[in-house]
Amino acid sequence: MKKIVLLGSTGSIGTQTLEVVSSYSEKLEVVALAAGSNVAKMEEQIRKYKPSYAVMWTEEAAEELKVKVKDTDVKVLSGMEGLLEISALPEADVVVTAIVGMIGIRPTIAAIKAGKDIALANKETLVTAGHIIMPLAKEHGVSILPVDSEHSAIFQSLNGEPKDKISKILLTASGGPFRGWTREQMEKVQVEDALKHPNWAMGRKITIDSATMVNKGLEVIEAGWLFGVTADKIKVVVQPQSIIHSMVEYVDGAVMAQLGVPDMKLPIQYALFYPDRLPMQDNKVDFFALGQITFEEPDPEVFTGLKLAYEAFRVGGSMPTVFNAANEKAVSLFLDRKIRFLDIPELIGASMEQHKVIADPTVEQILETEASCYEFIESRC
Ligand code: NDP
Repeated sequence: MKKIVLLGSTGSIGTQTLEVVSSYSEKLEVVALAAGSNVAKMEEQIRKYKPSYAVMWTEEAAEELKVKVKDTDVKVLSGMEGLLEISALPEADVVVTAIVGMIGIRPTIAAIKAGKDIALANKETLVTAGHIIMPLAKEHGVSILPVDSEHSAIFQSLNGEPKDKISKILLTASGGPFRGWTREQMEKVQVEDALKHPNWAMGRKITIDSATMVNKGLEVIEAGWLFGVTADKIKVVVQPQSIIHSMVEYVDGAVMAQLGVPDMKLPIQYALFYPDRLPMQDNKVDFFALGQITFEEPDPEVFTGLKLAYEAFRVGGSMPTVFNAANEKAVSLFLDRKIRFLDIPELIGASMEQHKVIADPTVEQILETEASCYEFIESRC
């Protein structure tokens, strides 16, 4: 029985992880769940999965939850202290990091230090603290198993091959709802338009990130850290059907790819059972119905967020934190209808321009950089 701690259980990845647990309840057991403020969903999950611990981010939500589940044995905790405690639970084998945002950094570090394998969905952690996380994981002998579908695909395509045989990582992208659009067309984009992803059902923040292609930029940096390659070895390939989840080109020209229907449960299940593969129902690609798979090059002059991600990764140090933090703040302002869609990459660029890079930031410096980046954007909006 594999024992799981699930951070971000009420979100898109979190609920799909629990679906995988339901399919394999004889092999997987949930020992702790964590969420932000969704008490109703957390109560539902506690009753169904019977974890020993549940963490809510706010004290208020935790108090509300305690009252609702007082007839159960669950121990309710709150805040960062609670997240750190459950991430290092002695009985846990793996921590699934499906929280959104940089809040995931410290719990991931705590889990690694406690020797837990990480099923990593929370890309912000690697983007901003990859230089801390990857060496730490190596030092403690823990595996970082990617949950992001592209990174899972790369991981599967790399299986067993040495790193020096990689010529390029070909990171595929759907292109989002505005694929092929001009900047003029994007000027009038509303929140509802940007939330309509053509292929994937995801949380709101990552759906906006897909529309700007900032998500692909974050994935470039995430891939760099996960697979130990530089920015120039990662190429983004638009593949609108989202059937090829990513590819690896080797020095001899051979290309290995992982294909599958766009369903996050496959990479989640793969990460939870790696190196085993277990059956999954109703998720087989019907190539005859699909008909064709097509490829396009993304336009960096339209999707400037992608270009800025490469720049942030090349500069390194605290710059990817600025890229990520500026995006988080800008996306939340866009979702609140306070800025326009095209202001998102513009604010990221302006934040990066004014930032004085810290070469090898500590976690504290990363979080300070995040806070000052938020302040900078607030002062401009
Ligand atoms: P969602 O917004 O759907 O869910 C986020 C989860 O995090 C919720 O459970 C939320 O709780 C919880 N949360 C938010 N803030 C806190 C906090 N301060 N403390 C504890 N829990 C918190 O996001 P997604 O599931 O879409 O994405 C999660 C991560 O996975 C992101 O980093 C994303 O980039 C990555 N990812 C997502 C993919 C997808 O298909 N969705 C694909 C690949 C990667 P509450 O509901 O209470 O707010």
